[in-house]
Amino acid sequence: MAKGSLLYITLGCAKNEVDTDRMRALLDAADYQEVDSAQDADAVIINTCSFLASATSESIETTLALAEEVKEGVRAARIIMCGCVPSRYGDQLPQELPEVSAFVRADEEDGIVAVVDELLGVERDMPSFIPNIKRTVEGSVAYVKISDGCDRFCSFCAIPYIRGRYHSRPADRIIAEARELVAGGVKEIVLIGQDTGIWGKDFKDQVDGPANLAQLLVALAEELRPQHVWIRVLYLQPEGMSGELIAAIRDTPEVLPYIDIPVQHCNERVLKSMHRSGSEQQLDELFARLRSEIPGMVIRTTSLVGFPGETDEEAEQMLAFMDRNSFDYTSVFAYSREEGTRAAEMDDQVDEDVKLERAQKALDLAEALGFAATASHVGETAEVIIDGIEENDGFSEFIGHAWFQAPDSDGAVHLDIEEACIGDIVTVEFTDSFCYELVGHVVESE
Ligand code: SF4
Repeated sequence: MAKGSLLYITLGCAKNEVDTDRMRALLDAADYQEVDSAQDADAVIINTCSFLASATSESIETTLALAEEVKEGVRAARIIMCGCVPSRYGDQLPQELPEVSAFVRADEEDGIVAVVDELLGVERDMPSFIPNIKRTVEGSVAYVKISDGCDRFCSFCAIPYIRGRYHSRPADRIIAEARELVAGGVKEIVLIGQDTGIWGKDFKDQVDGPANLAQLLVALAEELRPQHVWIRVLYLQPEGMSGELIAAIRDTPEVLPYIDIPVQHCNERVLKSMHRSGSEQQLDELFARLRSEIPGMVIRTTSLVGFPGETDEEAEQMLAFMDRNSFDYTSVFAYSREEGTRAAEMDDQVDEDVKLERAQKALDLAEALGFAATASHVGETAEVIIDGIEENDGFSEFIGHAWFQAPDSDGAVHLDIEEACIGDIVTVEFTDSFCYELVGHVVESE
């Protein structure tokens, strides 16, 4: 008999999804049952995002809407707010959100069973914390965290204050988790962290096994080789792109030639003010090197416009940089003044309308480059992982993604297949494209 029923809500990025999976696994092992409605739940676990002020507002609004909804429920569920909002605003929250029964910071989430037990009056003899729990996910793709926290302290970013200093997860835990996920049917492992390229730099002692990301990728690929699995790495930083890492991506067949490097800007003065290193010339050289050493590779980046002090010329310089480097995918953000960060205190804030105008220009360019890059795959044949069925106006079709499309971020492939299972890998000829999407004819299935 279950000890109670729980609804899980995850806001924000893939890193939060991983954290929710872990809490769910701990609570499943502690005999709690998942339900899909707040009205059937004894408690709702809401894992929040606070990366930007807008994400914080969404987290609060979702929590307040939930509080209204649980009032209607038969059990009047307790609300437990977890993750980034409690990490960032912990002390202020109990007064401001009396609707919430408990707040759990991101670094306290392994203690979630004890929190739920206490709220629901559950007593147990076993210790509440169950280490190294098995994680399972539904679907073809699983995110695996290789690190948490960040030491870079970019002046616009609140993450280091929310998630703490950089710490790498041990290789044996990462490999074991990936192995279990693949055994459960996952076909793509996506390695994530705030700064994946420097994985291992905080290992103080000599380690047995992988000591840096390049070595981790090779070890993981060897472990998963018999299962025909794709491995993708997100959130690299320019400084982490060592020759050894580039070679590992190029020479390890399971590791996709897809590089995600959020540059934010190219102008040296702006980068310095952002507390980031490098210059336009160094970034140009890095991308030229990547394109020459890993032919046909795909590059995703991020452009942050309207940072304090950014001039019209500097904004134009960033557009020219994007154009010259023909990025396949660019996420564009207008600078957001985040409480507690150094950039929020800078004098020369850019007017909102100027920021929005610059963001629109950058977005238009990003789309022109991205749509052209997507169209360039028409006529190619490649493997596609089936992700599910999409329903539109009574019409349904299978969709999947190719190696050059990061799940949840880039486009999808729309397939002309009648039957398939999620996680199947099919060989597809791309026949057409629209925006970031491709249309594909299945030429071979498993
Ligand atoms: S690298 Fe910079 S932008 Fe990314 S999480 Fe760290 S501080 Fe934030």
